[in-house]
Amino acid sequence: IVEHTFIDIESKEDRISAFITLNKEQALKEAAELDQKGDFTNFLSGLPVGIKDNIITKDLTTTAASKMLENFVPIYNATVVDKLKKSGALVAGKLNMDEFAMGSSTETSFFKITKNAWDQSKVPGGSSGGSASAVASREVLAALGSDTGGSIRQPASFNGVVGLKPTYGTVSRWGLIAFSSSLDQIGPITTNVEDNARLLEAIAGHDENDATSAFESTDYLSDLNKGVQGLRIGVITDYLEEGVMPEIVDSVKQAAAFFAKNGAVVDEVSLPNVHYAVPTYYIIASSEASSNLQRFDGIRYGYRTKQFHDLEELYTNTRSEGFGEEVKRRIMLGSFSLSAGFYDAYFKKAAQVRTLIARDFQRAFENYDLLIGPTTPTPAFGIGEKCEDPLQMYANDILTIPVNLAGLPAMSMPNGLVNGMPVGLQIIGNRFDEKTIYRLAKFYE
Ligand code: GLN
Repeated sequence: IVEHTFIDIESKEDRISAFITLNKEQALKEAAELDQKGDFTNFLSGLPVGIKDNIITKDLTTTAASKMLENFVPIYNATVVDKLKKSGALVAGKLNMDEFAMGSSTETSFFKITKNAWDQSKVPGGSSGGSASAVASREVLAALGSDTGGSIRQPASFNGVVGLKPTYGTVSRWGLIAFSSSLDQIGPITTNVEDNARLLEAIAGHDENDATSAFESTDYLSDLNKGVQGLRIGVITDYLEEGVMPEIVDSVKQAAAFFAKNGAVVDEVSLPNVHYAVPTYYIIASSEASSNLQRFDGIRYGYRTKQFHDLEELYTNTRSEGFGEEVKRRIMLGSFSLSAGFYDAYFKKAAQVRTLIARDFQRAFENYDLLIGPTTPTPAFGIGEKCEDPLQMYANDILTIPVNLAGLPAMSMPNGLVNGMPVGLQIIGNRFDEKTIYRLAKFYE
């Protein structure tokens, strides 16, 4: 299986360009060891899994798609990687992404442009574009991505696969190269719902190395075949407004009608403060990023400039040469909104609005078990179409960001085609209720 996986990857990579690094030799070695042991009782035994390249892997180059980490070889594994290995999985390789996970199209990668699995003139989405495209093109059957403002769900939607962002705290962030620590979560991208639940089960759970990781149950499978009878589902009206393609609005309404026909209680719900989600997110995420990226100073690890006379110049030139344009833009935005004179007007205000958004969801979950809406306003757009205009790119995240601000779990699953390209249905659950998301998704798939 592993040999075939690499034959397959090598034949498709010309077209897809999803991987930054392949782990062929090591994976084949581990597969041979598994063969020798002959123990395939675990669900993941011998399964090659692709890993987004901001999740660190021992002895395997991890770049976060940045020149800054072009030659960075970690000396330990992220907790999720150790957990996958304990379940018998193998690392197939490291997947392309937007630099430091900042972007919605994988076009800010320092290394390559990944193509959408359905149409190679289109972006795969981002930032986990490599992960989603690799799964959609069946280079691998499963991959890990990370989602700060939509980076698992949006590319899953663009490529017609299943992607889940877990509740904040479900999956350890130990070994995930930090973008925005209060928003980041690692999650699974797969071809189907059950695989997704099983992969989440393998990577979830408390980790003493991550102070924000929770002690919740990691049972995602026991309700999988319960159907939708009696489930209370709210259709988010604010997600169906202007800017969302009419065909996408229709696809959500059709899904809602299907659930109602099968015994769910379906109604409309409004979350008034989600309209402020994009500006709120870009202040919070950039602020945290500007702080997290301070560590890339050219001293401890990563890229170091050759042009310097003193320490100050070493820092400045290293960062000027090592970071791409989008990353620099975020660092400037973040430093600005955290600065003494502007903190109250920007960061503090954003933190307050974040609470209002979280309360909107909290209120909705008093009456509903799940909320649904589209994942994105449009299907995948063309390569090069939006990269000159950051605001247009940021607006693309309008339907995925609110969930990160509220810390909630959400999935994107295939919901038909619009203009020949896949679109996603977004299913949002209450805190730590991934189980019910999987229940609805399994019924719908
Ligand atoms: N597109 C969003 C951003 O650029 C989300 C990225 C992510 O979820 N990592 O910040």
